[in-house]
Amino acid sequence: MSSSIPGSTQSLANLLSGEYGSGDVFRAMIEALPLAVYMTDAEGRLTFFNAAAEKLSGRKPKLGADQWCVTWKIFLADGTPLPHDQCPMAVALRGGDVPSGIECQAERPDGSRFWFTPYPAVLRDAEGRIVGGINLLADITDRKAAEALANEQFRAIVDTTPDCVKAVARDGAILLMNSAGLGMIGASSPEQVIGTSVYDLVAPEDRDRFREFNEAVCGGAKGSLEFDIVDLRGVRRHVETHSAPLHSPDGAPVHLAITRDVTEIRRAERAARHLSAIVESSDDAIVSKDLNGVIQSWNKSAERLFGYTQAEAVGNPITILIPPDRLEEEPKILERLRRGERVDHFETIRRRKDGALLNISLTISPVKDSTGKVIGASKIARDITEFKRAHSALQASEVRFRHLADAMPQIVWTASPDGRPDYCNERWYEFSGCARDTVMDWESLLHPDDLAPFRDAWRESVQSGNPFNIEYRFRDKRENRWRWFMARALPARDSAGRIVKWFGSFIDIDDQKRVEDDLRRANVALEQFAYSASHDLQEPLRSVRIYSELLASTCGELSPRSREFLNFLCAGATRMEVLVRDLLAYTQLAKFEKPEHPADANEELAAALANLSGALAESGGRVTSDPLPTLMIHSSHLQQLFQNLIGNAIKYRSPDRTPEVHVSATHLQGFWRFAVSDNGIGIDSQYKERIFGLFKRLHTQTEYSGTGIGLAICRRIVERYHGRIWVESEPGRGSTFFFTIAV
Ligand code: ADP
Repeated sequence: MSSSIPGSTQSLANLLSGEYGSGDVFRAMIEALPLAVYMTDAEGRLTFFNAAAEKLSGRKPKLGADQWCVTWKIFLADGTPLPHDQCPMAVALRGGDVPSGIECQAERPDGSRFWFTPYPAVLRDAEGRIVGGINLLADITDRKAAEALANEQFRAIVDTTPDCVKAVARDGAILLMNSAGLGMIGASSPEQVIGTSVYDLVAPEDRDRFREFNEAVCGGAKGSLEFDIVDLRGVRRHVETHSAPLHSPDGAPVHLAITRDVTEIRRAERAARHLSAIVESSDDAIVSKDLNGVIQSWNKSAERLFGYTQAEAVGNPITILIPPDRLEEEPKILERLRRGERVDHFETIRRRKDGALLNISLTISPVKDSTGKVIGASKIARDITEFKRAHSALQASEVRFRHLADAMPQIVWTASPDGRPDYCNERWYEFSGCARDTVMDWESLLHPDDLAPFRDAWRESVQSGNPFNIEYRFRDKRENRWRWFMARALPARDSAGRIVKWFGSFIDIDDQKRVEDDLRRANVALEQFAYSASHDLQEPLRSVRIYSELLASTCGELSPRSREFLNFLCAGATRMEVLVRDLLAYTQLAKFEKPEHPADANEELAAALANLSGALAESGGRVTSDPLPTLMIHSSHLQQLFQNLIGNAIKYRSPDRTPEVHVSATHLQGFWRFAVSDNGIGIDSQYKERIFGLFKRLHTQTEYSGTGIGLAICRRIVERYHGRIWVESEPGRGSTFFFTIAV
């Protein structure tokens, strides 16, 4: 007997066989059973079936003819047809093993199908020979349908969920992933990911954490984890996983994960945190209320400004801040907000907790929900009490200011902090001819070439608060010509440093400009004259010198007195020549062109010293120097500076010591400062300025020869390079001449 046949069916078989002498009773009972039951002889031919078997199989089996089973056609669970002689009953009758609980399908003659589990048992005689069989068919169609439905539902839920649903094996292999998951990681089909390692999708820095988590879930733990993934497109996303263990059909533990992309949520949370930090740290009071006027939020500055703590304010009506005589404002504001309008810079008065009144500028914006419906309002309140005070103080002083302004010869005006002119004195109307009730429109008179520079400079000043300063031309309609003006304006500020007004003036500088122009022209003419005069003088002077020298050498018999006169003539001509040469050098500096190459100061010093070698040898003087820089200056200019200054240092040496001169240079912010110091006779401090003037000398020709042009040339050169020259000296001890050259 097969041990796998359920004991209960076997007992039934025994009862039916009448083993206990009560076969008929049980047969009647089985007839009435709602379970399908049939019996066969040892060859499998049907000997009995009950009503339930007829109903289930959908046919009336033929007793003694039909073999093995009451059903019409049998199929295995996977749908393969099963010949009747291989059905579980046939197997049992042949003495084979029938596994318990197998599931089969059968088809009725009308084509409908049902699921059943057979419980066959064999009937044996006293010797144990098989003499027949009995089979019980349990109808499991409903259970199968429910299972199928559950599977279907599960798949539908998994497939329609917007989150990634996936199953991961302990080694990280992806076993299942729904379409949302495929979309999240940028995969086009399940084949692309099934079987690959989930670890490859986890960002490298989170991989160890995720591996630990996966192993814990496969070991039976439940939990959640946030980590970064880098998807198949290389896009990094922040995700959150909720996981639970699951057992796969083969019994291996599996990690079932529902993963949500929280990149945007976290970003929004961060932004919200930033925003609330900004709101908290704002200097302005920021308050929100609902459409009933009930306070919803209250920042630190609101606490400071109005004196109520957040706990005291939130939940209370905004009217706690409104003085009784202004209560009618609130319904109007709420009405505008309901319409979605914004209230900008609404100046009003509000009351602190301690009763003090504040001048407030309010900006109120509607707050909308995600559907665009207005659900409340945010309110930014700025304390303008101080501003108002400064403003009204200004208006007290305004009358006096206007009187004063009208008495002034210049055009005087004021402008609001945003740069719009709001007042001008009588002079403007006189000059422009504009009507008294018009606002000052300076642009209408500006020279077209000056319009843009004027506008830019004014805009820059208004934005930065820097003083406004510009020269430009206005149309003088009375004289029908352009006149030069200078505009100047300064901002007035309140105690908090905010600009409350601009005060400006337009000064007529036309005459001054004309004088400057005349002067410039005269200077150019003078320089040209000096140049040609000194140039033309050179020639006749050379003739005087040469011929007087010739006369001295050829007229051997001249009287001593005549020879003395001739010597004076010679010396005078020579001096005159030097003077004219120096003057020429001076005037030539008028034609200044920017240097194209830098000059090495060490080389120029060496060249100057070579030119001075005679004077140096004669005086026994010594010149030392520090390493000197290379800088943008004409080499001839630098050489001349060294030559004049060192020449003087030797010339104005002390009779008591050999001249020692030192040259050095120091790099300072934006320029080089050179120093030429000597141990000569020094200069009295009262002459420190004078010596740089043209023809200015402190000595007679007999004491020290010279023209008084050398230092004037030095000054001119240095000024060409926007530098400065000066002397520091102690009479009797020496002098140091400094000059600067911009880098
Ligand atoms: P010059 O040397 O031809 O007289 P400069 O213009 O070079 O003309 O100098 C003007 C005057 O400055 C000189 O006459 C002299 O009195 C004074 N001076 C210039 N350099 C020195 C110096 N190194 N020491 C003392 N006095 C000086």
